[in-house]
Amino acid sequence: MKKDFIIAIDQGTTSSRSILFNLKGKPIFSSQKEFTQYFPKDGWVEHNPEEIWSTTKKTLKDVINKAKKLRGNILTIGITNQRETTVLWDKKTGKSVYKAIVWQDRRTENFCKKLRKQNKEKMIFNRTGLLIDPYFSGTKIKWIIDNVAQAKKLMSKQRLLFGTIDSFLIWRLTKGEVHATDATNASRTMIYNISNNKWDDTILKLFKIKKHILPEVKDCSDDYGYTHPSVTGKSISITGVIGDQQAASVGQCCFEPGSLKSTYGTGAFVLLNTGSRKIYSKNRLLTTIGYRLNGKTSYALEGSIFIAGAGVQWLRDRMKFIKKAPESEKIVKSLKNNAGIYLVPAFTGLGAPYWNANARGVLSGITRDTGPKEIVRATIESVAYQTYDLFESMRYDGLKPKIVKVDGGMVMNNWFTQFLSDVVNVKILRPKIHETTALGAAFMAGLKIGTYKSLKDISKNWSLDKKFSPKMKKKSRNLLLHGWTKAIKRALIN
Ligand code: ADP
Repeated sequence: MKKDFIIAIDQGTTSSRSILFNLKGKPIFSSQKEFTQYFPKDGWVEHNPEEIWSTTKKTLKDVINKAKKLRGNILTIGITNQRETTVLWDKKTGKSVYKAIVWQDRRTENFCKKLRKQNKEKMIFNRTGLLIDPYFSGTKIKWIIDNVAQAKKLMSKQRLLFGTIDSFLIWRLTKGEVHATDATNASRTMIYNISNNKWDDTILKLFKIKKHILPEVKDCSDDYGYTHPSVTGKSISITGVIGDQQAASVGQCCFEPGSLKSTYGTGAFVLLNTGSRKIYSKNRLLTTIGYRLNGKTSYALEGSIFIAGAGVQWLRDRMKFIKKAPESEKIVKSLKNNAGIYLVPAFTGLGAPYWNANARGVLSGITRDTGPKEIVRATIESVAYQTYDLFESMRYDGLKPKIVKVDGGMVMNNWFTQFLSDVVNVKILRPKIHETTALGAAFMAGLKIGTYKSLKDISKNWSLDKKFSPKMKKKSRNLLLHGWTKAIKRALIN
C-alpha cells in the first residue's frame, strides 16, 4: 500500500525548509538550507529572492526524492512563510526588480513618521488592524516604487507584480500561472482591509500603489494551482497558504476563541484566537486575520516580543556565559532566586505593548555578588515577564486566554516553561510535535483536498508532551513583577 504524504514548505527568515508529513501530522523527513542575510545600511535587511527560490526548490526536491524512496504518494503542498517581507518582480521575465525587503527592515521609518504626523494612525488601524510601522509591507512596496526606476516604469506598463514570499514562491512554482496570496499574509501588508476583505483603495491611494500589481487574496485552504513539471517533475497541487505565526497557531490547533499560542524562537509571538470577533486593542496589540476558510474570517490578537531566544544567543555569543543554549537551564536551576537582578532586553527597542523603538537594554539591581549566573537567570526570566505584559494588555482589553499552548526552541527549557506558567499564572501545554509552523501549512493544504474533514478532525492530531501548572505563591509572584515593572520604567527612559 502506498503511503500518503503532504509537503509543507516553510520559508523562514534565515532558512528555507521543506517537510514531509504523514497524514497524522508526524514529520517524516525534512530538508533545510540557510541563505544570505544582507545588511547594506544600518537598519536595512534584505534577502536575494533568487536565493530564496533556489534554496526552497532544493529542499522541495529533497523531500520529493525522499517520498519516492519511501514509495510514497504526495497528495498536495502547503506553504508557510516569513510574513511582511516584500518582493516586486517583472510579470514578463519573472525577475525581481530589487532585493526582498525583510520584515525587520526599518528604512521606511521616516515615511511612517510622516503618516503618524498626518494623523493617519486611527484610519490605518481601523482598516488594517495594524499600527503604522516599517515592519509591514505597504511602506516597503512604496519605497521600491519610489527608489527603483525600473519598478516605476514596469508599474506604468502594467508589468509589475507585488508579493509577500508566499506569492513569489507560488508564482515561481506554477511558472507564472498564479499570482495569489492568502488572507493572513494580506493582513500583514497594511494595505489590506480586514473588515471587507479587500485591498484598501484609500490606503493604496495614499501610498500611490496601483491595484493591478497586487495578488488575488484567497482562503488559507484554497486552490493555488499546480507546480510546473519543470520544477517538481510530476506536477503537484498547492492547496494551503498561511503566514508563519498564524500557521503555528493552526499547527497548535488553536481553533476555539480564547485559545492562545505563544512561540518562543528568536523573538516570541503570541496569537490569541478571538473567533469572528474583530477586537481592536486599546493596548497596542495588533488585530490580524488568524485564518480564513470558506470565506469566513477568524480573527486574532497578536503581540510580539523582539528578544526571547535571541537573549540566550546574546548570553552565548557576546557575553560568552554559556556555550550552548540548553546549558542555561542548569544555570538558572542552580540559583535559589533571582537575587533582585532584572534584565530588560530592549536591544532593538521594545515591541508590544510598549512599541518603543528608542528603549535600550537595562540590567538593574547589580551588587558585588552579581555574576554570569545571575545574568543568565535574569535573561531567561525576562521572557516570562514580557509575556506577562502581553497577557496584561489582553486582560485590559477584556480577554483572558482559556488555553495556552507553547512551542519554539526555548520551551524545551523546562525551567523556563514552568517559570512562565508561574509568572502568567495559567496552565501551559507543550505539544509532542514541535514543527507547529510547517504543520499548520500541511493541515491547511490537507483540509482543502479532504484529507481532514474539519478543524475538529485536524485537532485529533494534536497530542500533549507536558503540562505546566502554576505553583508560585501570589506574594512571590507580585514581588517579582514589582521588580520587573521598575526595571521596564528605567528602560523606557532612554
Ligand atoms: P527560530 O525559529 O526563531 O530560529 P527556534 O524555535 O529554532 O527559533 O528556537 C531557537 C532559539 O531558542 C534560539 O534563540 C536559542 O537560543 C533558544 N533555545 C534553544 N534551546 C534552548 C534552551 N534549552 N533554553 C533556552 N533557550 C533555548
